Amino acid sequence: MKTYSKTPGNEELQNIYCPICNSGKEKHSLLYKYDAFSFKKCRMCSLVMQNPQPVFKDISSRYDKEYFDYEIKNENAFFSLMLMALSDIGFDSLDFSGLPKKILDIGCATGKFLYEFKNKEWDVAGIEICKEAAEYGNSYRNVSIYNCTLEKALFPEKSFSVVHASHLIEHLNNPVSFLKEVYRILHDKGFFIIVTPNIDSFQNFVFKSGWRSAIADHLFLYSLRTLEKICNNNGFVLVKKGTWGGIPAGKAPVVIKKIFDSLAKKTGCGDVMVALFRKK
Ligand SMILES: [Zn+2]
Repeated sequence: MKTYSKTPGNEELQNIYCPICNSGKEKHSLLYKYDAFSFKKCRMCSLVMQNPQPVFKDISSRYDKEYFDYEIKNENAFFSLMLMALSDIGFDSLDFSGLPKKILDIGCATGKFLYEFKNKEWDVAGIEICKEAAEYGNSYRNVSIYNCTLEKALFPEKSFSVVHASHLIEHLNNPVSFLKEVYRILHDKGFFIIVTPNIDSFQNFVFKSGWRSAIADHLFLYSLRTLEKICNNNGFVLVKKGTWGGIPAGKAPVVIKKIFDSLAKKTGCGDVMVALFRKK
């Protein structure tokens, strides 16, 4: 089963240049084709993307009340996965000496992650494009969530020690402008954590166009290599990484799933990856 996604409507499409190597559509080969959209693979750098892809105005309208309902229903499960990702990069043993306890969660949905950090004495801020989710977090969790893109929030330079973006970068039309802004607002000794589906995964290899993360809302699908490349290009260096997820729940007996999950983790072929970056 695929993950949640909107069915594309009558949206305005634009052709894009590869955000890693700047090649145009003539260098992008069809990878997966669906009724209303397709994924192409850049022959120069291997990045997978929708090209053409919907413009930002139309993409942003997908994050509506229905999206909010999905987020609120699943927030505890998503929070557990976020904690697992933090554990994989050894978050609790990172060196925060000399750094303010200030964290930004981009694509923070209902603010559950921020709320938990606030309870541990962190100054927290969030970015969430879904109006209902941002309002929920502001009102019921009393955490500060900006209902706009990161680029529009205009945070002061070097103001965060941790920037966290879980299941976010694959949704962005312009990952380069996003990364440049993260670089600007991150403390020189700060930490940048990205969680995103891993196209170099066992599950993508098996399910191909039926892979659960090959969905309309994902404008880009990264491998660890392409994620590292685009972050390198924009001033970051990879310091830790991890993947998880061998077989989707319910697809195999629990004992078999356990074996595949363990193998996927050991070989870096898990379905989702976490990467910890610092400034170069
Ligand atoms: Zn490319």
